[in-house]
Amino acid sequence: MENKKEMRNWLNEFNLTHPFVIAGPCSAETEEQVLKIAHELKDSDVSVFRAGIWKPRTRPGGFEGVGEIGLKWLKKAKEQTGLLMGTEVANAAHVKLALEYDIDVLWIGARTTVNPFAMQEIADALAGTKKIVLVKNPVNPDLSLWLGGVERLYNAGIEKLGVIHRGFSTYEKTKYRNIPEWQIAIELQNKFPDLPLIIDPSHITGDRNMILEVTQEALDLNYDGMIIETHYDPDNAWSDAAQQVTPTALKQIFIDLKVRKVDDMSDEFTQKMKKLRTNIDILDENLLDLLGKRMKVADEIGQVKKDANVAVLQNNRWNEILGKMILEGEKKGLTEEFVLKMFKAIHQESIGHQEKVLNA
Ligand code: PEP
Ligand code: MN
Repeated sequence: MENKKEMRNWLNEFNLTHPFVIAGPCSAETEEQVLKIAHELKDSDVSVFRAGIWKPRTRPGGFEGVGEIGLKWLKKAKEQTGLLMGTEVANAAHVKLALEYDIDVLWIGARTTVNPFAMQEIADALAGTKKIVLVKNPVNPDLSLWLGGVERLYNAGIEKLGVIHRGFSTYEKTKYRNIPEWQIAIELQNKFPDLPLIIDPSHITGDRNMILEVTQEALDLNYDGMIIETHYDPDNAWSDAAQQVTPTALKQIFIDLKVRKVDDMSDEFTQKMKKLRTNIDILDENLLDLLGKRMKVADEIGQVKKDANVAVLQNNRWNEILGKMILEGEKKGLTEEFVLKMFKAIHQESIGHQEKVLNA
């Protein structure tokens, strides 16, 4: 997929002086609920009203969406408020209905992006559409799978494309519902700077108290917009209650968010940055130099172990190093999480080096 300029054009057409916003309930519940929330969101920074009509639930028995009737409510909400309407589609039948009811923004959910057959079916059903189509990241942290979904749509002649970053599933419990793994979205943004990138802090956090913080983090990384679940009575929402905010809270988030410039062309900024970046470049080179030296020692260790016919991994020694490094790291302002990740990576590389010597 080339980095086509027209991808960004749809966003520019909104002529916004602030990030692009999609907001509305996780699910359409009743006609009254849809209309009430849409009215509370009109005349704000919101451009698109969202509501799930078909809800993929992890376990059976949950609320699976109201279906086609909800599309009638969205149509009415559009007529009454002028907001564009957006919903999730997961198969060709959904696409057909959404187009029939003139839905403006269609997004592909995380559980659908993982499945190339489903993605292709949706791309075929949408072929040549002028609607805006947004692809959520797959539930697993796989950039190719995410891009593959976008490519299938692009190849079907859909030009108004964008991506939504909603975080990734983990087995371990973390403070997030779905961990952000920011580096994956950043890599995507670097590869395709003209593909609008939207943050979904609702599904990343699963917690309305963390929405502002995660959205700010995304804006600091130059994201183009946000999709935020909004309900007038979040606690009694039929799905995703803990993460929805009220329209009033959403408007406060708009006030609190700091939108930063992408760049600054002033001499002062350029010079300060140049100096600091030179410094960083030197330090990075030193880091690589040190790591290279460390691996040479690992090679020697490998030789000694080989001569004595000793196994590569000695757990005691490894745990000792880790404990010491976490304490040392803390003194230097490094988080335990980072020190652990870094040393696991170094250790992995070191084992690779020793293996090579042992089995040479
Ligand atoms: C949603 O947006 O309501 C939704 C189901 O999201 P995801 O596909 O990210 O789980
Ligand atoms: Mn939801």
